[in-house]
Amino acid sequence: MKKIAVLTSGGDAPGMNAAIRAVVRKAAYHGIEVVGINHGYEGFINGSIEPLDLGSVGGIIQRGGTKLYSARCLKFKEDAVQEQGIAKMREANVEGLVVIGGDGSYRGAMALVKKGFPVVGVPGTIDNDVPGTEYTIGFDTALNTVVESIDKIRDTATSHENSFIVEVMGRDAGDIALWAGLAAGAETVLIPEEEYNLDEIIARLERGATRSKKHSIIIVAEGVMAGSELAKLIKDKAGIETRVSVLGHIQRGGSPTARDRVLASRFGAHAVELLMEGKSGRAVGIRNHQLIDYDMTEAFEKHHESDVGLYTLMKELSI
Ligand code: ADP
Repeated sequence: MKKIAVLTSGGDAPGMNAAIRAVVRKAAYHGIEVVGINHGYEGFINGSIEPLDLGSVGGIIQRGGTKLYSARCLKFKEDAVQEQGIAKMREANVEGLVVIGGDGSYRGAMALVKKGFPVVGVPGTIDNDVPGTEYTIGFDTALNTVVESIDKIRDTATSHENSFIVEVMGRDAGDIALWAGLAAGAETVLIPEEEYNLDEIIARLERGATRSKKHSIIIVAEGVMAGSELAKLIKDKAGIETRVSVLGHIQRGGSPTARDRVLASRFGAHAVELLMEGKSGRAVGIRNHQLIDYDMTEAFEKHHESDVGLYTLMKELSI
């Protein structure tokens, strides 16, 4: 393999730049040329590529977002459009592709694999919801952003003796909410993977109040419901007032943590190794601290599961 391409797709995540850098540097180390594709699959079908040499990925390891831009490209689901992209890549002598993104991006990647174009996937999403890998690039950074924010909110909650509902990202996956709940010592966490019980939430708030604990933090993943909706449910049922804070897009940005940079570097380099070995349709991941690769199909055919042990621990520690 003499020339490969790299693109970022779906929601951006801190550490994607570190992964791009690793792909470029690892490939260069082995004498392979790399081109960057801008705007995800949109750039793939338009042949929007730029050469990435060693210098072009200098000074980006610490930057959030993605140097290659990310986009959602609905028409990429069409066979003819995928064929068009493959033809553009072949014209440019590109022999393989690294896709950095979430499970949606893997579906697109697998469509290319089935048409004979080699692709390896690197999991990049703050939600940590790619089945088959324990961690995805960006999760650690987002988690730390959320924990820092909740620590600050807690200062106000304590000073004013208020209870706060903090709405965090996670449409289908509650990892950010759950890990942040444990790390920030929240009283209650609501995640999409587990049923919630409103009476239990209210009882917890009331129990706290009888212990003269006048503030409380409830974290709700957006996939369960909006923070404002939960505040209304609590008010209507128990007459308890809560304040709502929606963290929003600050969770997606910022300089990646050291952990995300290391993970991204390992993933990016491993993806290049796999392409060099002639492998395709594989996703890189990490399990028990070991780098692994597995059939990319698994990542979108299986469902993300929350860590039941962590959820139980969260409940035990917030009695
Ligand atoms: P993520 O990768 O973060 O899960 P999305 O689900 O938005 O993000 O997917 C990113 C892009 O992947 C989509 O905009 C589309 O271009 C491509 N994609 C998603 N699903 C498919 C599919 N079934 N077939 C082909 N391409 C797809």
